[in-house]
Amino acid sequence: MTIKKKVLGAVFAGFILSGGTYGLFNDKVDSILSADSEKEKQEVVDEVDKHAPKNVIVMVGDGMGVGQLEIARLMEHGKDGQLFMESLENVALMHTYSANNFATDSAAAGTAIATGEKTNNESIGVDAEGNEVDSILDLYQDAGKKVGVISTNTVTDATPAAFTGSAANRWSGQEEIARQMLTNEYDVLLGGGASYFGPGKQNGKDLVEAFEDKGYSTVSTEEGLENVENTEKLLGLFSPSYMSYKTDRDELNSKEPSLQEMTDKAIEVLSNDKDGFFLMVEGARIDHAAHAGDATGVWKETIEFDQTVRQVVTWAEQRKDTLVVVLADHETMGMSATEPMNIEALKDIEVSPEYMAGKLIKDGETQTFTTESVKQVFKEYADIELSDEEVQEFLSNVKNNDGDVYAAYRVGWEIGSVIASHYHVGVVDTDTRAASSTGGHTGNMVPVFATGAGSDDFEGVLDNTEIMEKIANSAKFKAKLAKENSKGK
Ligand SMILES: [Zn+2]
Repeated sequence: MTIKKKVLGAVFAGFILSGGTYGLFNDKVDSILSADSEKEKQEVVDEVDKHAPKNVIVMVGDGMGVGQLEIARLMEHGKDGQLFMESLENVALMHTYSANNFATDSAAAGTAIATGEKTNNESIGVDAEGNEVDSILDLYQDAGKKVGVISTNTVTDATPAAFTGSAANRWSGQEEIARQMLTNEYDVLLGGGASYFGPGKQNGKDLVEAFEDKGYSTVSTEEGLENVENTEKLLGLFSPSYMSYKTDRDELNSKEPSLQEMTDKAIEVLSNDKDGFFLMVEGARIDHAAHAGDATGVWKETIEFDQTVRQVVTWAEQRKDTLVVVLADHETMGMSATEPMNIEALKDIEVSPEYMAGKLIKDGETQTFTTESVKQVFKEYADIELSDEEVQEFLSNVKNNDGDVYAAYRVGWEIGSVIASHYHVGVVDTDTRAASSTGGHTGNMVPVFATGAGSDDFEGVLDNTEIMEKIANSAKFKAKLAKENSKGK
């Protein structure tokens, strides 16, 4: 998003600088506007100050519906156990539909959460008519706070991009989003997606060099991240594309940091600023595992996310000036923990379906996978003995209409579905996924958990456009003040 400095008057600036704006703020706007003296105005601002968070941390579990939480809870802690996020004091449910679809994608969902505007699937940071809209992160940056985004996806993909950029189409826009990130100088950017920053993405130069020219520390490994000290601005790109699944990191000898390590470092850098900060943290691969019906991956990714929530809330609790909102952008694949789900067998699986897909061997003549390798991979990694009919069905599912074999992640979807079926994971079937433009997202409501300064307002059944309002109440509040201020001139 281009920097759009709004002239909103001193009162508004003071308000935002004092922290977030939420619920009671609408009433307070009226009080401020009707106040007779500067002193009275100041009293209202001071009162709001007492409740307003200085820092805001929004944590998005992509595709993390109630079913995903239940699978993770059951597999990690057992039927009477509890995820950490369940302990947060304020809980709500949220509808997620987009402007043009009952089932949203992450682009439209992220945009609704970040800007308060419904948009069409595949659109980022623009409303349904294509007009650019400011995100809550932009608003905080304009108010002089530090801002950052973290994702285990590419740092330019839908959810982080909804907070930082605008693109009419998410698939064409990642390089553009990277350039917007440079222009707007967001303070902390951590995740995957190095391929969108170089080589040669900025007038033939690496975009990473352009960030360094602007004073950023840049890192690309866990060790590099750990060693960064005393920096004001930080760019960390740890993988050409998505960061690796938690389950695959050992097998791949990965040098990537965990979500916890990225979040820890981001807070260290951002909290240097006395004015406070806004940070978005995304556990992105819960969604990717869910697309494959991969309960094992959903379990591992959700637990990593939950541990990150614990770490953030533990930090915030010591300060009393920080709002933490934990939510999902939408649900993926209608996942559930069924009664006969074979938890032990699923726990024994040690790699992702996508990793397994990489181990299949193509037949030189038919350009499809050999029956032998399909049987061998399912046996070795999932302890499943496929019949010849099952192999044939699998092979017919991994080809597109032209008869070409899908990319590895997409073959992984089919492997995951076979495993889900064998071990009774509740998940939409292959045909339904194939018929779905989002690859299996559902309209199921998702959970919202909140704690800290200003979190009382997160309750009941919400729409995804209300989150931004509740954090900053900016859309209405900003429009209203701008209007009133201009009237007075
Ligand atoms: Zn998805």
